[in-house]
Amino acid sequence: MGGFVLGAGLTGAAVAAGYQCMAPRGQWYGRTFTGLQPESKQMALTYDDGPNDPHTFRLLEVLAKHDVKATFFLIGRFVRQRPDIARDLVRAGHVVGNHTFSHPNLIFATAKRTRAELTTCEHALSDAVGEHSRLFRPPFGGRRPNTLRIARGLGLEPVMWSVTGGDWKGKPAEFVERKVGQHVRGGDVILLHDGSHAAFGADRSQSVIATDHLIARYRSEGYKFLTVQEMMEKRAVSSQLSALS
Ligand SMILES: [Zn+2]
Repeated sequence: MGGFVLGAGLTGAAVAAGYQCMAPRGQWYGRTFTGLQPESKQMALTYDDGPNDPHTFRLLEVLAKHDVKATFFLIGRFVRQRPDIARDLVRAGHVVGNHTFSHPNLIFATAKRTRAELTTCEHALSDAVGEHSRLFRPPFGGRRPNTLRIARGLGLEPVMWSVTGGDWKGKPAEFVERKVGQHVRGGDVILLHDGSHAAFGADRSQSVIATDHLIARYRSEGYKFLTVQEMMEKRAVSSQLSALS
């Protein structure tokens, strides 16, 4: 709790700088954020492949109903298509991050292509919403050390996940809820989807229903819902405190 209060007193930039300073350089190469320590009764809901219509809007309604803030990794070309949805996400207090411009698997991309995918998505986000997070999630989770080095060179912080709902398979909400429930340990970053990289307008109604049920379930079990940014700030503060002690 002391760490939380300290975190609240720092500016986001100071915390972010602290986070970077505290990370031993040797761990930077290939390291990605995947959540907090287990048993922490915290959870970050993350949504990839949007913005999407109408399912991003449905999801916004569900998250607002529960007063939960989530993290959205947006595809740049969909942001160009519908910047209004990206703005609605930010206006509602959610965090938006970079999921590349056209969703290639970066394992197979040249350095030049990787850089172009990241920067064109950044520009799409900046044009749509202005200031936004430095978070980046590689499509399909695919990355090589060079991918992460390029991302960090552009000031981006790679984020993966610890639990996936498997909701891109078109399975019913119960499947997604069960799959998440099997793997939650506390401190998790949950991967879900409000869109599909294959096409704008994909049906994500089951992800929306699953979200509604998952929030109700885990809140009743005492969980708190954080954005990925808030989770990273918590970890930064706890690192600083342990360095001081
Ligand atoms: Zn994706």
